[in-house]
Amino acid sequence: MKQFDVPEFYRSPIITKIKNIRKANDPRKKDFSPSCLDFGKVKFWLARHFGFCYGVENAIEMAYKAIENYPNKRIFFLSEMIHNPFVNQDLQEYGIQFLMDTYGNQLIEWDKISKNDVVLIPAFGTTIETKNKLNEIGLLVKEYDTTCPFVAKVWNRSKKIAKEDFALVVHGKPTHEETRATFSHAKANAPTIIVKNIEDTKKLAQYILGKLPENEFYKTYNGRFSENLKLSDLNKLGVVNQTTMLASETQAIANYLKQTLEQKFGQENIKKHFADTRDTLCYATNDNQQSTYKLLEEAKADLALIVGGYNSSNTTHLVELCENIVPSYFISSASKINSKNKISHFDIHKQNEIETHNYLPSKDNVNIILTSGASCPDSMVEAVMMKILSFYKIEKNISEVLEESISKYIQI
Ligand code: SF4
Repeated sequence: MKQFDVPEFYRSPIITKIKNIRKANDPRKKDFSPSCLDFGKVKFWLARHFGFCYGVENAIEMAYKAIENYPNKRIFFLSEMIHNPFVNQDLQEYGIQFLMDTYGNQLIEWDKISKNDVVLIPAFGTTIETKNKLNEIGLLVKEYDTTCPFVAKVWNRSKKIAKEDFALVVHGKPTHEETRATFSHAKANAPTIIVKNIEDTKKLAQYILGKLPENEFYKTYNGRFSENLKLSDLNKLGVVNQTTMLASETQAIANYLKQTLEQKFGQENIKKHFADTRDTLCYATNDNQQSTYKLLEEAKADLALIVGGYNSSNTTHLVELCENIVPSYFISSASKINSKNKISHFDIHKQNEIETHNYLPSKDNVNIILTSGASCPDSMVEAVMMKILSFYKIEKNISEVLEESISKYIQI
């Protein structure tokens, strides 16, 4: 995979060393077992795959190139470049401004933008309507479009499904930039509807089977279906998803809709009614989730620390997986670890930050899972590790622990 030129302060020498050696030993990622850094009193279990993904590194590289290439131009992001507040803040410190907030609300009016400006499209991509607007202004859209190729792949898949005359069901978060972009691209080709989760899908199935009245359907899914969609279009459908959803949920949704259509039209006719394609999750989502399952299985951890932006979809799903098994703390940076006894962390259910006391067990040999989402710099994960280590009297030094950890892979 292509290597990107990302500022060194986002990297962590320790984590880079582990990642590189694991990659060299297992380039096809057959082994998702975690790496362990054993400091004696505390062990950190690091996921096989975490941190910056292809799309995020590409977007960061392009943003810094734009800053370098156009020191005298105004540079804008359509919205948050990626869902990490610290990366966005770094870029804003170079004078970069956001045109919209993360929900698509305009922060700077279009008439204030001219063709002499530079506008970057984020890794999530954007809607056709916004892209047309950028072209109308005469901006260099192609040069600074950082839409991740894995998002573009979803758009291509939906085009293919639409060509075969199927309606499209998008599994995603309706307000997320990527889902809004995918919805816009999908509805240009076929009637499209967004489902949020399996409960939402079960309700949709009731409408498809005629068990709930059609007039209520349009109210239930208000704002989440294309103007040209009729309920009967959903007798023939295909599923695509936001690239960062929970793999198991997307699978459950596709299976549920397939079974619904089998119930309605008979198993023998299913090919005419259901476009049976693989999910459109990206490699980073799949790898991060698989690594997390393996971490939970092997680490026998006392707690999990998951680092990332609170609005990051892929990070939230890692938290969901961890919290089913182990006390889990979703933190945006090391500064959220207030002390050995207190941590401020994001509650994904209440959608706010809360404080927990005594999050570290008072025993020797504490096992900690440490991972992060696709938009989190490794340097921030390292900072979390260092903060925790500062609470313990550690006799081993980092280089010794690192060598011990990687020696296992060097011998292979
Ligand atoms: S999470 Fe996946 S789709 Fe999103 S930017 Fe990263 S590689 Fe691309």
